[in-house]
Amino acid sequence: MSKIAIVGGGIIGLAIAHKLSQLKTVSSVTVYEKEKNVGQHQSGRNSGVLHCGLYYKPGSLKSLLSVQGIREMVSFCREHDISHDICGKVVVATTAEEEKSLEALAKRGHKNGLEGLKYLNNDELQKREPYVRAKKALLVPEEGIVSYKAVMLKLVDLIKQNGGEICTDTKIEKVKSSNDKGVVLITDKKEVAYDYLVSCAGLYSDHTFNKLTKESSPLKIVPFRGEYLMFKPELNHIVNHLVYPVPDAKYPFLGVHFTRLIDGQREVGPNAVFAFKREGYNTFSFSAKETFESLTYPGLIRFMKNNFAFSMGELKSSMSSSAFIDKARKMIPEVTNDMFVKGNAGVRAQAISTKGELLMDFNIIRKDRQVHVLNAPSPGATSSLAIAKYIIDQYLEELK
Ligand SMILES: Cc1cc2nc3c(=O)[nH]c(=O)nc-3n(C[C@H](O)[C@H](O)[C@H](O)COP(=O)(O)OP(=O)(O)OC[C@H]3O[C@@H](n4cnc5c(N)ncnc54)[C@H](O)[C@@H]3O)c2cc1C
Repeated sequence: MSKIAIVGGGIIGLAIAHKLSQLKTVSSVTVYEKEKNVGQHQSGRNSGVLHCGLYYKPGSLKSLLSVQGIREMVSFCREHDISHDICGKVVVATTAEEEKSLEALAKRGHKNGLEGLKYLNNDELQKREPYVRAKKALLVPEEGIVSYKAVMLKLVDLIKQNGGEICTDTKIEKVKSSNDKGVVLITDKKEVAYDYLVSCAGLYSDHTFNKLTKESSPLKIVPFRGEYLMFKPELNHIVNHLVYPVPDAKYPFLGVHFTRLIDGQREVGPNAVFAFKREGYNTFSFSAKETFESLTYPGLIRFMKNNFAFSMGELKSSMSSSAFIDKARKMIPEVTNDMFVKGNAGVRAQAISTKGELLMDFNIIRKDRQVHVLNAPSPGATSSLAIAKYIIDQYLEELK
């Protein structure tokens, strides 16, 4: 029987803990989370969208785990009565160039196994989204919205029901020993021996890898803040569902989109601005140490040099709400600054290679008895249950 430690109480750590706590070969599962509550970072600060795999390169881990992930997440929500809505998404091309990209995207979606993709004619589009203007619009009927906070609360419940433990306010940064027999963790209170450790540390996945394995992470996380604006409540009728632009193939960030949240609010965003602090949620959040670390990383310097216009455009959209809204106006020309109030913000853990490439696929590594989720960008929340199953099948096979 194995004792397992999970580092990180975001949706991925909780999903893994939930699945492990159901195995007969596992005697105990303990989740360590440094904050006072679970889900305070990416998992509690995202768009709340259930993505079904339209965008991802066929054959990538993302394409596989998002298709499996949305199906598993939706059945989890149905089983546990978690409110969600498969409201469908409309992807909107506004130029001839985007029209071509949309067609390529639809082909990619078919290859990834998506069902029911359909171009909307003008009448159909106007019925769904009367304010949207498009040259061409693709309906992705399998996508939807959910509260990932509600999903996490249910996961915590289930972990506890199965005898698992959630230790909040506990940061894990040290191991006493780690080898092919197990890991001895040093928490701030005591030393504890485990048979396995799984780290899902989100924005600190690289740091945690370095500290716990005493090796150097093969990738570096660079934080990109995503800011949202909220529609004033009396204007919620302007967006009915999910309205997305055709993404720029060069950037994995999906572009400023309109989202209906599960509580009925409507938001627009997020942009993608370099953040001066990994877990810093406003324009003035700053950590000298983390900024120095990012800005001296050759991969980020190369990325900024090669993508100067993109970086400046996003920065401008953070400083000026007009620049932000200009991006959204491409899809809904009627939107104006005075329709919005400031919304939430999240910070994406974006892995960048030393060559300056944005690493888009999920990345998981096993070292002795430690498994590290190094890169889990969007749609990591949608895919969390499928990622958990994949990790157990591929990296912790001996526990099955
Ligand atoms: C702006 C934004 C929008 C997004 N939109 C969507 C979307 O609509 N749909 C979707 O599917 N995905 C979306 N994503 C992506 C999704 O949110 C992430 O893929 C997912 O939340 C990653 O989960 P995680 O558990 O790996 O990370 P996190 O939620 O960041 O959790 C990591 C946890 O580890 C803890 N931790 C770190 N270091 C330590 C340590 N040393 N000791 C103890 N605890 C530690 C942190 O406190 C944190 O709670 C979005 C992300 C962002 C930022």
